[in-house]
Amino acid sequence: MDPADRARVEAWLRYGDDLGLGPYYRSRATQGTAAEPELGAQFGSAPRAMAAATPARASAPALGLAPKTSVSGSQPAGGAAQKSAQAAASVLPVIAGPSLFEAADRIENDTLEHIRADIGDCTRCKLHKGRTNIVFGVGSMKAELVFVGEGPGHDEDLKGEPFVGRAGKLLTQMIEAMGLRRQDVYICNVVKCRPPENRLPEKDEITTCSPFLYRQIDVIRPKVICCLGSCASQTLLQTTQGISRFRGEWFDFRGSKLIATYHPAYLLRNPNAKGEVWKDLQKVMSVLGLQPKRK
Ligand code: SF4
Repeated sequence: MDPADRARVEAWLRYGDDLGLGPYYRSRATQGTAAEPELGAQFGSAPRAMAAATPARASAPALGLAPKTSVSGSQPAGGAAQKSAQAAASVLPVIAGPSLFEAADRIENDTLEHIRADIGDCTRCKLHKGRTNIVFGVGSMKAELVFVGEGPGHDEDLKGEPFVGRAGKLLTQMIEAMGLRRQDVYICNVVKCRPPENRLPEKDEITTCSPFLYRQIDVIRPKVICCLGSCASQTLLQTTQGISRFRGEWFDFRGSKLIATYHPAYLLRNPNAKGEVWKDLQKVMSVLGLQPKRK
């Protein structure tokens, strides 16, 4: 392998280890070398190469994964077999791997405690400089419903808990209107540290921090993920489209159903949008079999 490519591969592996993905790589290191030529040939896009080595998930078609074509078992002979193998190799790495975790499989026996421990006293992105507390997430690890916001604000940063300010109070009201309690759901954000002046998280910050969110979702395995606002929904859906283009629609996401709605902070500024959000929440309630709270 070219020394420059090797250095890049090693850098990705260190990054994966840093995120607690060591077991993922090590388990695949014993699966033979079939994927390694693809890793080298594809390099320039390490996540794509890892996607090629990753078993297809239930949501793979939605993500554009080409089906793996087996080259084992009954094989045509001679040149036909070679052509078949070449065809199989050619369909593997076609997925666009937008992030390390999008391409990675679930980590076996992962827990919220492991994820929090892996975050540690994190300095992986520049948001660490201004934070008071890392805001990991709160709620039931058996939640059927996970709310994902963009990042902590002032109150959340001070308390170390997501959605505790004015927008958080509104979110709590929304949850209760659905017939749930705050402790019945799980609430977290795309980035775990407060962006300065409550600005939106930047792309490099999202890329660095979002793998922890993916792991949280993988551990909880909720029936429904409700993205609050454009940052969360664009991050999880890997799109740059505005939220109004897809708000209220259902998507598949790593085995869960995903819906996007407006952020409670937006509702504080635009109370007229509450009706639209309530319609979205009613869709969630329908999937979860919930009845609205009786007054
Ligand atoms: Fe680390 Fe995430 Fe905080 Fe950045 S936002 S310092 S990646 S915990």
